[in-house]
Amino acid sequence: MPTGASVTPAAAQPVRLSTGRRGGAGRSCPTDGPLVDSYGRVHTDLRLSVTDRCNLRCVYCMPEDGVALRPRDEILTFEEIARVAQVAYDLGVRSVRLTGGEPLVRRGITALVRRLACIGFSELALTTNGMGLAPLAADLARAGLHRVNVSCDSLRSDRFARIRRRGELDTVLRSMEVAEAAGLVPMKVNVVLLAGQNDDEILDFAAFARETGRVVRFIEFMPLDADGQWRRDSVVPGDEVLTRIAGTWPIEPVGGDACAPAERFCFTDGAGEIGIIRSVTRPFCGTCNRLRLTADGALRNCLFSDDELSVRQVVRSGGSDHDVAMLFRRAVWSKLPGHGINEPGFLQPARSMSMIGG
Ligand code: SAM
Ligand code: SF4
Repeated sequence: MPTGASVTPAAAQPVRLSTGRRGGAGRSCPTDGPLVDSYGRVHTDLRLSVTDRCNLRCVYCMPEDGVALRPRDEILTFEEIARVAQVAYDLGVRSVRLTGGEPLVRRGITALVRRLACIGFSELALTTNGMGLAPLAADLARAGLHRVNVSCDSLRSDRFARIRRRGELDTVLRSMEVAEAAGLVPMKVNVVLLAGQNDDEILDFAAFARETGRVVRFIEFMPLDADGQWRRDSVVPGDEVLTRIAGTWPIEPVGGDACAPAERFCFTDGAGEIGIIRSVTRPFCGTCNRLRLTADGALRNCLFSDDELSVRQVVRSGGSDHDVAMLFRRAVWSKLPGHGINEPGFLQPARSMSMIGG
């Protein structure tokens, strides 16, 4: 690990990859203390994308033909990821989620989990489409992974095939059982709702949560699809989800982590829990504590920001851990107050969800 003379990233390398809008109000960012933005939000949660590849083609994320992939030599190595993760930990990041693309298609992912587990994050989790989870679950748990979120947008095989375009529902349902048996609990199930496509399954998913004890999280469709097909009327508002479920089973809010994107609700009869993620209709930017590292090593302070800083450039040009830390600080400091989806003139970001890491 290079520890020699510090390079000044801004001067030595083209680390700023884009000209996206940025915050910070012209003030320079702090050089010590917590990882804070210019609005006082302290960042403790890192989403680490380990690949931009995927074995599925979900309609709300990727086109049928896939997306243009980064050359392999631009993808961070496990050594680089682990080094950057350690720097993040030293800056106060305590929660890491591995994502992608599909993280389980990255060869040797268990070895990366083992390295990250040694750092000591209080939460080390992974989001997967579940297709490759069953054979890896026990090894991932042994390597130190705490939990998995499994994405599953329909409980009907034909519809699952239509929305995700590849893969099979049975494989995903089976992977949930195997992962739970391996100790990757509590399990959360991510459901992206698409108006007219799967919103008639809200109650089925609520029943699924009640029967299995898995926390089903209903996610509003966000303008992050590579096709650019997102339309406001294809979003199923979280309010509607709550109304429909409460009409059958009474629910009540559960307190908890104020920074978490999901609002939690439990069934009042004690039969389980659901969550809603209202990124579009009720943005939670005011409490956002998340930061993202793309598979090719770009730091992004928001899913919807095109303002990126390249960690890869810094680590591959001999930058020190201090340089990496300062890049984190700059990335966080320049975060805008909100994602702007509901503002006039909102532009969908250049990178779609699978290229950022959801
Ligand atoms: N491939 C893995 C998976 O599908 O779980 C991990 C990566 S995926 C980008 C992470 C999460 O983002 C998944 O739960 C997926 O359903 C969600 N997602 C993808 N595109 C989305 C969009 N346009 N709006 C809302 N959620 C989206
Ligand atoms: Fe792949 Fe996940 Fe995107 Fe679906 S949501 S195409 S599984 S990255």
